[in-house]
Amino acid sequence: MMKAGGAAHRDSRTRRRTGPGKGSLYPAQELKRRAMAWAVMLRVNPKVIRVQEMRRKWGSCSSAGTVTLASDLVEQEERFQDYVIVHELLHLRFSTHGRMFKALMSAHVPGWRRWEVARRCNAD
Ligand SMILES: [Zn+2]
Repeated sequence: MMKAGGAAHRDSRTRRRTGPGKGSLYPAQELKRRAMAWAVMLRVNPKVIRVQEMRRKWGSCSSAGTVTLASDLVEQEERFQDYVIVHELLHLRFSTHGRMFKALMSAHVPGWRRWEVARRCNAD
């Protein structure tokens, strides 16, 4: 009996609105993993990355190093997820949206400016 074959069956049971092509059983976990991969890439060290319900914001970053991502981000497209993740992680290095902040956003998330209208950030 192959252990690896089980995923397809379980999929129909807990299917959520995760957008086209997304079949993950644990979208929040995947979002967290995505954020951790970005942290490595950006060479920042968040103490905690958590995903929780946020009414007004897509993400936040505390000075203590906790990055929080809105759970409804999992329903957004991956490019937008990256935009929010990179934005919050960069706040671990820059507290404001200065020139370096924006330069790094452009380097890592090309075209990020088109999302600016949609974001919810406490530093804005
Ligand atoms: Zn910000």
